[in-house]
Amino acid sequence: MTQQTKALHAGYEKDKQGTMVVPIYQTTAYEFRDVEHAANLFALKELGNIYTRLNNPTTDVFEKRFAEMEEGEAALATASGMAAIFYAIANAAEAGDNIVCATQLYGGTLTQAAHTLKRFGIEARFFDVHAPEQIEPLIDDKTKVIFFETLTNPSIDVADIEAIVAIADKYHILTVVDNTVATPILCQPLKHGVDIVVHSASKYTTGQGLAIGGIMVERKDLVEKIKENPRYPQFNEPDPSYHGLVYVDVPLPVYTLRARLALLRDLGAVVAPFNSWLFIQGLETLPIRMPVHSKNAQRVAEFLVRHPKVLKVNYPGLKSDPNHTMAMKYFKDGMCSGLLSFEVEDFETAKRIVDRTQIFSLVVNIGDSKSIITHPASTTHQQLNEEEMAACGVKPGLIRLSIGLEDADDLIEDLKQALEG
Ligand SMILES: *Cc1c(COP(=O)(O)O)cnc(C)c1O
Repeated sequence: MTQQTKALHAGYEKDKQGTMVVPIYQTTAYEFRDVEHAANLFALKELGNIYTRLNNPTTDVFEKRFAEMEEGEAALATASGMAAIFYAIANAAEAGDNIVCATQLYGGTLTQAAHTLKRFGIEARFFDVHAPEQIEPLIDDKTKVIFFETLTNPSIDVADIEAIVAIADKYHILTVVDNTVATPILCQPLKHGVDIVVHSASKYTTGQGLAIGGIMVERKDLVEKIKENPRYPQFNEPDPSYHGLVYVDVPLPVYTLRARLALLRDLGAVVAPFNSWLFIQGLETLPIRMPVHSKNAQRVAEFLVRHPKVLKVNYPGLKSDPNHTMAMKYFKDGMCSGLLSFEVEDFETAKRIVDRTQIFSLVVNIGDSKSIITHPASTTHQQLNEEEMAACGVKPGLIRLSIGLEDADDLIEDLKQALEG
């Protein structure tokens, strides 16, 4: 089955009513047949619904469908992309451990890693995504995760996935990759050996800026990397919080299982069933939206690169872009998604351009069907210090665009008047 067909059908079996649309199971809990049934569900002797903090039939369809689109084994949906990232890391790392991250990260991920995880006793060590050779010296026996983004937001760099995976595999360390901007339509990181993919579903998955959500997908046979691996005792030793369960011994996708039973159960960042339903609607059109986002962004990038007021354009679809070769290696059919950024002289010039656009909305989001303009230095990256800002490629005159599904000529016209005003 191709992705387009999976996007419409995977993970859903029609019920007795023959309902065409996946029903929204708006419920907190589920009735057990009897006490034995309840006990069996809690003991994992039988699988089924217990309580919506742990599982929900609507969310289950979203998880199954997304897992198929990434060609993974199983998925766990969460209340936000940030929660999915936290769970993907906290599933493997605890106080005293460290993670190795690319510096080119989403602003929220960077602060989570550098500040919040630090308060939890997890140290983040950073490498330049263009220099995977910086990873090896950062690794020790407490390194639990190597984290990076396939197509970085907002610096718009493309990672050499296979080079990073090769280092991680040499040390039997898990790779966690944020594939939000590329989406499974452009890139399927699990096929390149990545272990766990995370997404903010709030972006291209909903596709219309309708809801906040996240998802984590694990690859097939991940248990083989974790079983008897001394880095991951929490999967190999009895879990006292789950009456001595040893996760690698359960014949279910191990990373998702532990994230659900230990993290989602205790930390509770669960996605609302209605939001899962919105994400299911969004996925239906993802395979036809991504080529349009990509084509429009290519047109806008080609316009900007020729404009005298523009100092630099970051878009991997441009032949002149330093990420072009990597993009052509990893992204399907030369598509490079809808995210691009460009630099003008200074903060004030950037501010003027952003304020003058008409079609573009000043919003801190990406992946909407409607085009968005952002000024990272005054918004998404404002909380970072100058050094952190420079490390993730944010300059005061940087403007980020998320190109939507409008007519590319109209978008170009709008930018032209904003630049020239
Ligand atoms: C938006 C975003 C996130 C965070 O997701 P939320 O759903 O807003 O919590 C993480 N990574 C990337 C690349 C993003 O663009």
